[in-house]
Amino acid sequence: MTILVIHGGAGGDGPWLGKTPLDPARIECMRQVLSAVGTKLQRQEIDCLEAVTVAVEMLEDEPLFNAGKGSVIGSDGTITMDSSIMQGRDKAAGSVIGARRLRHPVRAANLILKQGWPVMLSSSAADDFGIANGVEEVSQEWLKTDLRLGQWQQWRSTRSSPGSTDENDSVLDHDLEGRVAKEFSDEGMGTVGAVAIDSQGMLAAATSTGGMTGKPEGRVGDTPIIGAGTWADETIAVSCTGVGEAYIRTCAAHSLAMHLQQGNALVESANIVLDAVAPLGGRGGLIAVTADGQFVMPFQTRLMYRGVWDNGSMKVGIGPQLEQ
Ligand code: ASP
Repeated sequence: MTILVIHGGAGGDGPWLGKTPLDPARIECMRQVLSAVGTKLQRQEIDCLEAVTVAVEMLEDEPLFNAGKGSVIGSDGTITMDSSIMQGRDKAAGSVIGARRLRHPVRAANLILKQGWPVMLSSSAADDFGIANGVEEVSQEWLKTDLRLGQWQQWRSTRSSPGSTDENDSVLDHDLEGRVAKEFSDEGMGTVGAVAIDSQGMLAAATSTGGMTGKPEGRVGDTPIIGAGTWADETIAVSCTGVGEAYIRTCAAHSLAMHLQQGNALVESANIVLDAVAPLGGRGGLIAVTADGQFVMPFQTRLMYRGVWDNGSMKVGIGPQLEQ
């Protein structure tokens, strides 16, 4: 049994209105990730940890997602990226906070996990560690795209307040959709993540993000926090996307594991978590896969970019429905 589930961020209010002009490229990217990484996982060429790492690296390389190249821009005009990874069998974990010079923050998190100690590195220490251990160094200019610059300029001109838990004020990357100038109006999605079970029955989860447009210097979301944005143990692997502060305050990813352990069904457990996050202004979604081969991809926003490789069969979706 091999399953790989990925997401490319959740966001927006109201009913889904269909694909935007750039959505086919996002869908295509997700298909490529699922097919390339799912096939390797199935052939046992890679294990679950490498599968989630490579899947997230590929999503980081797609400029239309808010991770790696194409990350959103903070209040000071710079990109800072967060990522974390965890493997279920021994709860080994790695995390980077505020990386500025890494093409693949998730690879740096993976290398921290493999080194064993410490679990988290921040800022220039995260960059230095990654680069010293072979992660490609890139410039801020390379990471920035016209789309994100446009969103940032829009944010600056309206001076929206970052991190607000008031949905109307939120400048979570996702929520910019529909609020930015017309040329950027359909381009506000997201954070990326992957969860997998390999043929040995082992589980892993990884998440990566540029955070929120206009975020204040030093702001840390849920993505690099083990137990908030990412979790894996022997029974479940989880990756979350949404307003990070609410996911931190509810220990969302870990709490899903606890609800499952207490005997709740997977779908029910996931809904309990999202219902707890929502009142704190954290609308969003998550993906999870369990040791017995179940998976879920729930979201409480208008959409969530997502897809699954389930023992060779692939499905992707944006709105409520999945397509082959
Ligand atoms: N959770 C991420 C953060 O708060 C944002 C997202 O998922 O889009 O940094």
